[in-house]
Amino acid sequence: MSVESTLELTELRETVARLHGELTRYGLVAWTAGNVSARVPGRDLMVIKPSGVDYDDLSADNMVLCDLDGVPVEGELSPSSDTAAHAYVYRAMPEVGGVVHTHSTYATAWAARGESIPCHLTAQADEFGGEIPVGPFALIGGDDIGKGIVSTLTGHRSPAVLMQNHGVFTIGRNARAAVKAAVMCEDVARTAHLARALGQPVPMAQAHIDALYDRYQNVYGQRPSPPANSSRPRVAPAPRD
Ligand SMILES: [Zn+2]
Repeated sequence: MSVESTLELTELRETVARLHGELTRYGLVAWTAGNVSARVPGRDLMVIKPSGVDYDDLSADNMVLCDLDGVPVEGELSPSSDTAAHAYVYRAMPEVGGVVHTHSTYATAWAARGESIPCHLTAQADEFGGEIPVGPFALIGGDDIGKGIVSTLTGHRSPAVLMQNHGVFTIGRNARAAVKAAVMCEDVARTAHLARALGQPVPMAQAHIDALYDRYQNVYGQRPSPPANSSRPRVAPAPRD
């Protein structure tokens, strides 16, 4: 392996280890039940959390490097018990660079009912482009969970799927984007639950959902400053993270 790719891999290990801290910071996980992985760019490899290690003890060094069949290629630790599902997603969806799994409480309550989250919020339209769908029930081990994630999210705007009776899987162009989707999924699920508990949420027009999604995906956020002689505004909209 070249020096450059060794450095890149070390950075990716650090990023994946650090992103697990976001799962605890946003209250998405209990004990060790949640995991983040990242595809190693340009290689048929992924970095994922080791199985059963406390979040406080995660570091670049104990992240597990696996091939895209989920088989560890170095180190002593076993990878997350959800590795087969992450690996299946990377094999089937080449555009995906990060995968996250949680049992975050409100989203998983929708999964327990096998109910997708209807889009009644602008924030949900922004991030998910409509409903957050339910995927099939699938037992852990083998490819069934991975197949359920891929069959539900392929061609769907949502980067999150509620696997029935189980929990949330999210995808992103990198691990950070997948973590963001997991955080936003729980936020939306919580608000949708409260709205439903207190009354009947007001439906949104599909045209409004489409317009919000298009704006957020294409023009929301910050862009680096243009050259000094440019007449464009100093802070212009840019693709979201
Ligand atoms: Zn799980």
